[in-house]
Amino acid sequence: MSDSAAQGGIAIERALRVLSAGNRVLIRATDEMQLLNDMCRVIVDIGGYAVAVLSYLDHGEQKSLPTMACAGIEKAVVEAWGGTWRADDPRSVFIRRTITSRSPQVSLVFSSDPDLLLWQEAARREGVTAISQYPLIVDGEVLGLLLIGTREEESLAFGERELATLNELAEDLAFGIETLRIRARHEAAEQTIRRMAYWDSLTDLPNRTQLKEKLTEAVTLAKQAKRAFALLMLNVDRFRDINEVLGYAQGDLLLIALSQRLRSFVPEDGLLARMGVDEFAVLAPGSNVEDAKALARRMLEGLYEPFDILGCRIEIRASIGIAICPGHGTESELLILRADAAMYQAKRSHREMLVFAGDGEEKDRGRLAVISELRQAIETSQLRLYYQPKVELGTRTICGAEALVRWEHPERGVILPGHFIPMAERTGLIHQLTHWMINAGFAWAYHLNEAGITMPLAVNLSARNLEDSRLVDRISGLMATWGGRPEWMQFELTESALMEDTACSQEVLGRLSRMGFKLLVDDFGTGYSSLSYLQRLPVDALKIDQSFVRAMLSDDDTRTIVRSTVEMAHNIGLEVVAEGVENRAIWDQLHSLGADFAQGWYISEPFPAEQFDNWRSTSPWHLG
Ligand code: C2E
Ligand code: CA
Ligand code: CA
Repeated sequence: MSDSAAQGGIAIERALRVLSAGNRVLIRATDEMQLLNDMCRVIVDIGGYAVAVLSYLDHGEQKSLPTMACAGIEKAVVEAWGGTWRADDPRSVFIRRTITSRSPQVSLVFSSDPDLLLWQEAARREGVTAISQYPLIVDGEVLGLLLIGTREEESLAFGERELATLNELAEDLAFGIETLRIRARHEAAEQTIRRMAYWDSLTDLPNRTQLKEKLTEAVTLAKQAKRAFALLMLNVDRFRDINEVLGYAQGDLLLIALSQRLRSFVPEDGLLARMGVDEFAVLAPGSNVEDAKALARRMLEGLYEPFDILGCRIEIRASIGIAICPGHGTESELLILRADAAMYQAKRSHREMLVFAGDGEEKDRGRLAVISELRQAIETSQLRLYYQPKVELGTRTICGAEALVRWEHPERGVILPGHFIPMAERTGLIHQLTHWMINAGFAWAYHLNEAGITMPLAVNLSARNLEDSRLVDRISGLMATWGGRPEWMQFELTESALMEDTACSQEVLGRLSRMGFKLLVDDFGTGYSSLSYLQRLPVDALKIDQSFVRAMLSDDDTRTIVRSTVEMAHNIGLEVVAEGVENRAIWDQLHSLGADFAQGWYISEPFPAEQFDNWRSTSPWHLG
């Protein structure tokens, strides 16, 4: 073997050593900067190369090449070269060649290569005889450059195979960087999701979920330390009216200002949370009844000073309810219920604050029992999907249905939603309930689809569902589970839920709509919304509330309201569904007023979804 061949073999061997050591570094890497440093070290320490420099392309006007890591040479020395990848920099030719060719470049005849002006000085000083440079391609773009220099005799350094091996190292490194960056992005996204689950997006305060968890911790701590703590529930009086007068954007500003002011009264070890649109809770550790009352007084007095919202002076009043642990309960749900009950009692009796008084105890115990029963009902599938068809007035064809929940209680028989939905909303169980309904809805739509029938099932969403930023992801998940399509499902939202109009609810509505789901405004006419307000929302249809529909025959004014609602809705491109269509006379009337769809007992009462085939074969209505 000739000398030079032996030397070439050594060169490849060292490159391979670097490659395998580099892979070990990659596997362990958790931090990008650390990875870059370790890689440079491996090249110099394990490979015996003279220098290794990693620089990234700066996309600013200067197109500089900041040094991210180096070994075998001081960083300050590299920085002093002042390398760039600018086209008008005569010293950047070699660098730009690596970038544009996206392949490794070598310079063996170092000192005579005019393109290497930049390093000649430095090279001479460091005794470097040859250099090679490799592009780091991340996400399809050249992110940076790896420079490796050697002190070998020029003719022996960076042969074809060595170069290919080192380029493989550069590729692995680029892949490692990409992986770390993806991981970092995932972590950031996860953090955001976690944040949204525990924080209110408008005020940046902890939300109900977080308060509940903290409350459970506080109960444990209080038991250990044998100390009491207080839970204060504050509700702004007549916030809805204020919101109406101010408009929603300013209403939001007021809530932000209010939350900031309240924060200043909360003890350092305490917690202020936003529980609902205009409801806040304070957890005050170590407080007895007197401490809690004093705190409530300070908060109420703190609100006497009017708020200045964009030059408007706004006065607000609030009511506070107080519950103390352990005196009023040692479970978080019970404490919330009781602070809430005291707050409502205060409002009703026009007092600013009240401490929970024991009289509602029996009722609370009963309610708590029902809560745990309902939770069980959801888990053990005592819920049933009922189905009420909708028919197109013009063609008399079945065009969809509404999903209505029923609780088939083992002892009490079928319970109507009016008896448990409000409680589910107050306790947060509505999230599980809605999830159950949407899953059952997709399962049912899947079954229909298998039978060759595609028609939408409208599921009811509560205001609380819209406060849950994870709702949309859950819906996507269920849709994927059943291979569903947006045409399979619609969502009904009551007018009042839409009026709450928080940043989160807007986001949820927007995402659902962009996913292709039709959104319907439920119980239209019972809230305060105007059509012009609805026009700003991504809704597709109105459901005129049944109270109007049923009164329409006997009351001229109501008929006029229905007529103009239909006209105006059509003018802004919304379809109109009438609910509570109980008889032929109402049907005919609606038909002449131009409503699009009808739902009600005249067509069918709600029935268990699995009876659909049976119903269809015996009813006069047919599929389009
Ligand atoms: P809604 O969304 O307005 O549903 C229509 C209600 O009117 C249903 O009551 C239905 O049974 C009843 N109905 C239908 N046709 C007629 C009729 O011709 N005449 C009369 N008098 N009533 C009729 P239901 O099933 O008791 O539901 C009551 C409310 O409970 C619903 O009102 C809805 O707000 C809520 N709800 C039902 N299921 C769910 C659910 O899965 N999730 C949520 N969040 N809410 C639900
Ligand atoms: Ca509905
Ligand atoms: Ca309704």
